Amino acid sequence: MSIKKVTQHPSQNEALIFERSQTGRVGYKLPKLDVDETNIDSIIPAELRRTDDLDGVPEVSEVDVIRHFTRISTWNYSIDMGMYPLGSCTMKYNSRLNEKVARIGGFTNLHPLAPEEESQGALELIWELQNDLCEITGLAGISLQPAAGAQGEMTGVMLIRAFLDKRDGEASKDRRVMLIPDSAHGTNPASAALAGFTVKTIRSTEEGITDLEHLQQLCDQGGVAGLMLTNPNTVGIFEKNIKQICEIIHAAGGLVYMDGANMNALVGVARPGDMGVDVIHLNLHKTFSTPHGGGGPGCGPCLCTEELAKFLPVPHIVKDGDKFRLDYDAPDSIGRVKAFFGNFGMMIRALSYIYTHGAEGLKEATEAAVLNARYLSHQLESDFDKPYPADPMHEVVFSHKKQSKKGVHTLDIAKRLIDYGFHPMTIYFPLVVEGAMLIEPTESVGRADLDAFIEAMKDIDREAQENPQLVIDAPHSTRIGRLDEAAAARKPVLRWKPDMEASAKTA
Ligand SMILES: *Cc1c(COP(=O)(O)O)cnc(C)c1O
Repeated sequence: MSIKKVTQHPSQNEALIFERSQTGRVGYKLPKLDVDETNIDSIIPAELRRTDDLDGVPEVSEVDVIRHFTRISTWNYSIDMGMYPLGSCTMKYNSRLNEKVARIGGFTNLHPLAPEEESQGALELIWELQNDLCEITGLAGISLQPAAGAQGEMTGVMLIRAFLDKRDGEASKDRRVMLIPDSAHGTNPASAALAGFTVKTIRSTEEGITDLEHLQQLCDQGGVAGLMLTNPNTVGIFEKNIKQICEIIHAAGGLVYMDGANMNALVGVARPGDMGVDVIHLNLHKTFSTPHGGGGPGCGPCLCTEELAKFLPVPHIVKDGDKFRLDYDAPDSIGRVKAFFGNFGMMIRALSYIYTHGAEGLKEATEAAVLNARYLSHQLESDFDKPYPADPMHEVVFSHKKQSKKGVHTLDIAKRLIDYGFHPMTIYFPLVVEGAMLIEPTESVGRADLDAFIEAMKDIDREAQENPQLVIDAPHSTRIGRLDEAAAARKPVLRWKPDMEASAKTA
């Protein structure tokens, strides 16, 4: 790690609060006592009192503290500051209204153990959201319990396992192969393995989609329990043969699982259920308002066909007349996957998002997300290598091929973007593309922001061709340049100690 300089300037090179300390400086003075001093011994027992001085606490004034922390609060790049080009993440802007609705006292103060008759509003909200998500996906069964996309996947493959065990009895043990394309998100093979399946990898074609011939060959080898497919896939391309893919898997006696993390390219336009998909998970924290990666909880609903619905986690929410209740009577259920009902706050935001958009608005958001990605794709394809020529859906993948000839790699380009005021894109994913840069602008970026990003990328390409070292040494505008990320993760320095001052100055 190289600390470039430590100065008192109000820039990102600002010194730590400890380094700003000046002996004797105080933030607040108490008035002289006008009553007798209480004998502290009679209040706080001796063993609980500290004996040393408050060593190491920075000596600073009030205004030092206020300004220092206000300044550093502005250095964290956030979704409220600017565009997140991260791909495979969606990370859309979350409108304030949905946050406001999620904070309504009746929801936030409701105890998860409150009796059904006192939770009717919350149960109705879950019920309504379930119906809307079923309509959007074209599937009949749903559970909102899973707390993340990965957990939705695990729930989904457990449904497949339960279905096969019930259908095939003893013979089910001979059907343990889960087919997964080489471009898949890493959670797919992990979920399949957790549910007791072995994974076989399907090749992608030059075009970046599932190789049908290879798929058929793998099915002919037998034992296929199912397929896990992301659509649009992780290189942003729509699997145009999806109906045929589903037919091949069904003919082989397996089920089709769709990873719906990229549903923001389909909502309101096409429905997985109509394509022949049996099970899907959604990421409410990617597609329905809550931004992914925000550090908060997630919600990864699992949806399935009517046929599989009886295996869904309990409790099921049932509507009797105009009352809602929880039904635990589901003998074929795989059981619970999460305490209570999952992360309810995400559900409120999602329903608020769906209601405020309406059917037409949801379709418009999808179209804008795809249009934005295609615009970027066209604007940048002359400067950056684009491994798959097809028009992408919601995200586009480039590689560093044109820049690496000059010694500039994906990581350098990402770091240089920081100097231009942008959060970097997703890098080195998907693994099938060497030096991948996966860019997803989403629906919430306007033309001016897109153009600013495109200009930054074109400038960085020009720098890579003319002055590669400038890009290789980036970022130049931050307090810390390139971190040794492995060391930072393995040996994090979480406390400042006085002798660090000396070592920082010599570094
Ligand atoms: C994000 C993502 C997942 C996993 O979702 P989490 O909520 O992060 O567990 C799975 N598949 C794809 C394609 C994704 O983009």
